[in-house]
Amino acid sequence: DSVFAHLVRAPEDPILGVTLAYNKDPSPVKLNLGVGAYRTEEGKPLVLNVVRRVEQQLVNDLARNKEYLPITGVAEFNKLSAQLIFGADSPAIREGRVTTVQCLSGTGSLRVGGEFLAKHYHQRTIYLPQPTWGNHPKVFTLAGLTVKTYRYYAPATRGLDFQGLIEDLGAAPSGSVVLLHACAHNPTGVDPTPEQWEEIRKLIRSKALLPFFDSAYQGFASGSLDKDAQPVRSFVADGGELLMAQSYAKNMGLYGERVGALSIVCKSADVASKVESQLKLVIRPMYSSPPIHGATIVAAVLKDSNLFNEWTIELKGMADRIISMRQQLFDALRARGTPGDWSHIIKQIGMFTFTGLNSEQVSFMTKEYHIYMTSDGRISMAGLSAKTVPHLADAIHAAVT
Ligand code: PMP
Repeated sequence: DSVFAHLVRAPEDPILGVTLAYNKDPSPVKLNLGVGAYRTEEGKPLVLNVVRRVEQQLVNDLARNKEYLPITGVAEFNKLSAQLIFGADSPAIREGRVTTVQCLSGTGSLRVGGEFLAKHYHQRTIYLPQPTWGNHPKVFTLAGLTVKTYRYYAPATRGLDFQGLIEDLGAAPSGSVVLLHACAHNPTGVDPTPEQWEEIRKLIRSKALLPFFDSAYQGFASGSLDKDAQPVRSFVADGGELLMAQSYAKNMGLYGERVGALSIVCKSADVASKVESQLKLVIRPMYSSPPIHGATIVAAVLKDSNLFNEWTIELKGMADRIISMRQQLFDALRARGTPGDWSHIIKQIGMFTFTGLNSEQVSFMTKEYHIYMTSDGRISMAGLSAKTVPHLADAIHAAVT
């Protein structure tokens, strides 16, 4: 008998499982709104033109080889990534107080940061927003941290539970780590206002909590890379310390290339270099060194002003299409007289709408309309098109009436 015969079958990942179910459905009208990946108006995955162009150049560059990268990855990529999120003129970067290591996309950056904290930080508790991306609790628990939550979303208003957030972070033990979505909160699409961010920042600093930012959607919230980075930059500007996990999956469409970075902003260059030396000890036994291809593409785009401009235009194009889908869905529900206030569809930002549909309504829509989404009612707006909006609106209408 197999030495593994005692294994029980593990459940599918709740997010990736949606696509597996979708793939099995033979219906011609089926619609997958579960994936957090951008789709074109034609429903196709998108490789940005700027990425294709750089890839052509890389293929033809015979001076390139496939030697191992250092443990910390492509040095130029790290420097440019820190500048992208913290600002090209960031004093923290100029003063050498930021250490950045290339990691395996956003997830890998969170995991390396989590393991570093579990090993070297005095407070092992991390507070996550309620709700948050489903992988967060698992990533941080397995990294060796204790996961707790703070109130974030108010179902009644489909907006931010700001009072609850302030109360919960105010009651967290001093020094606790706080995970913050840098922008375009997943799954709710609800972000604090600039004024609320400012209050959150003051509270975090006054209680000596340690912010750990997760930036998976820079540029996707507003269409502007700088604007989406504003809350993060205010935390750097106050001189305090923080961790930052960056992903290029969505904003450069490099999902499967697994390109990301972990930055740790420290009080001094001396501390930053010690931190980096310890990050290497976390990474080396985990996967030794990161992959070359994606980080080389990103570095090429970030360092060339023409390519960078081209990227921002393509990025804005993706963000704008999503915003237009919000409007079209909202209009379609209004046109049907669907009961309820659906203004959250146009108010929420980023890739997702947290519809407020419950799990029974979601099951109904899957069964009767072949529409797939996570059971919490989150729909990926990027999975919609002008052609499919009416079908979704019909389904939502039927589900709530
Ligand atoms: N954080 C958040 C909030 C996310 O939504 C995602 C992707 N769904 C990630 C991190 C990680 O994505 P990746 O590892 O593909 O960069």
